[in-house]
Amino acid sequence: MRKFALLLLCALLLTGCAAQAPAGTEDVFTVVTTIYPPADFARQIGGEAVKVIQLAPPGAEAHDFVPSLTDVNTIASCDLFLYIGGDTDAWALEALDSLGDNAPPALCLSDYVELLHELPLACVGEEDHTGHDHEAEALDTHIWTSPRNAITLCQTISQEMQQLDSQNSALYAANCQEYVRQLEQLQAEFETVMDQARRTSILFADRMPFRYLAEDLGLTCYAAFQGCSADTEPSLATIAFLTQVIEREQLPVVFCLENSDPTVADTLCQATGAQKRVLHSCHNLTTEELAAGWDYLSLMHENAAALAAAVQ
Ligand SMILES: [Zn+2]
Repeated sequence: MRKFALLLLCALLLTGCAAQAPAGTEDVFTVVTTIYPPADFARQIGGEAVKVIQLAPPGAEAHDFVPSLTDVNTIASCDLFLYIGGDTDAWALEALDSLGDNAPPALCLSDYVELLHELPLACVGEEDHTGHDHEAEALDTHIWTSPRNAITLCQTISQEMQQLDSQNSALYAANCQEYVRQLEQLQAEFETVMDQARRTSILFADRMPFRYLAEDLGLTCYAAFQGCSADTEPSLATIAFLTQVIEREQLPVVFCLENSDPTVADTLCQATGAQKRVLHSCHNLTTEELAAGWDYLSLMHENAAALAAAVQ
């Protein structure tokens, strides 16, 4: 902790120097974010008028990221810092707190939506013999997986940007309005999928960071692991439980996440004849995905198509 404090002192000294930005750059409104979704939202709202810096680099595991001294300095010198909060980017609050009076304006985005607890253990294949209270499960902060939440988050970010950068407020308001219209279309697409669905259960041979999408759509989810657990090897009991669920409910699809080990999904598909599909959690995109033009909206449209196959 002392080491971290010393690093921060250095960061503050560096910030003092960085405050004298080169001519021509000081007018660009700069938004710094921890992970991908708020970076994409800020870009959609700000367009050419803002510079957006995402600290966790493309392809990085969002939960495990550790900010460097330079990153802390980048936070200190930005115009608006956006982070999710909770376990998703716990490192953000620590960095922000330690900046004290030098902390920039910041939004903890999970303060702006209703938070839900992680999926209870009984739904992730572990028999719960502890008798513990499910309300004591950790809060899930994968809030962006619900298009409804994404709309709220964009409106919140837009309002803050309008307040902090009033000369561009009309642009931010107009861009946000257009992007919200597209998010509403996305929400309608998911609702259409559910209107035509023959079932409401889906299964992940993986972690399950889609708590908020599931809540919006009335989906029951089964998963190998809770939330974004770091576990990668489910117990035999969990595999047996998931196999039983697939057979009992005749599920046509087994989901896994992007960039994830497919072994468990392959095992379940081989045992049951189900088909493996990916749901992209959008925590972060890889360099290849960004180069190919993927973004939150296009990946979520892909997710809607994958969901349609799973609930048919
Ligand atoms: Zn996660």
